[in-house]
Amino acid sequence: MKKLYFGSNLKMYKNVHDTMEYLTKLQELTADLDRSRYEMFIIPSFTSLYCASEKIDQNLIRLGAQNMCWEDQGQFTGEISPLMLKELNLQIMELGHSERRHVFGETDQWMNLKVKAALSHGFTALLCIGETDEQKEYGISDEVLRTQLKIGFYGVSPENIGNIWVAYEPVWAIGVNGKPATPEYAQEKHHVIRECLAEIFGEKGREIPVLYGGSVNPGNSNQLIVLPDVDGLFVGRAAWDAEKFNVLIRDAIETYNNQ
Ligand code: PEP
Repeated sequence: MKKLYFGSNLKMYKNVHDTMEYLTKLQELTADLDRSRYEMFIIPSFTSLYCASEKIDQNLIRLGAQNMCWEDQGQFTGEISPLMLKELNLQIMELGHSERRHVFGETDQWMNLKVKAALSHGFTALLCIGETDEQKEYGISDEVLRTQLKIGFYGVSPENIGNIWVAYEPVWAIGVNGKPATPEYAQEKHHVIRECLAEIFGEKGREIPVLYGGSVNPGNSNQLIVLPDVDGLFVGRAAWDAEKFNVLIRDAIETYNNQ
């Protein structure tokens, strides 16, 4: 049976106190889930990371950062170095979230630098990819996804496969104005991604977990988790209440195990 992944990026929400309350509750509620089968991770704001890394058991909930500079140090005002994040024992580096790409103008070439830096510092690189509504309209979604993967992972050795995760997050599906992808559409694009990963890394590339994100909610999570090329759910708003996220995860696991 494949491993399932459940995680959330808290974006620019929750102060330190609220993040700790949330993480502590989520850790308690989900403590019984077998982590060899169900991987859980949360990506809080930078200001909460120190406290979270001190208090949260990363054998239960892995912690990550939402962004990182590719350089270790230097004249990069406002950026965070991989060394600074490594000091906190973080395990996951989220790179290329749609808001980084579309609000802050980050490019595929930057993603490539960041992926390589993250891997070289021992993080699991979680590369987010996804097409915009306009690109979908033009019928170039597959080309966009393939480009983001091929540039993002350019020059990355297949030896790193065990430390790479991909999140497919169609830009039009994310956030308050987003419409979730239908299960059919999600499966089609996850398949394109899986094939492209095999093209880039060889057959072993198929082992890279590919998570779906974009308006996942209790009404669609069970349909998404059973898709053959979906390895997990990367959840935003529907995950930010620990009790509700716990219920969503358990429902998804039950649905997956009963199919
Ligand atoms: C996201 O921002 O990555 C995300 C998946 O958000 P939401 O689930 O709220 O659409």
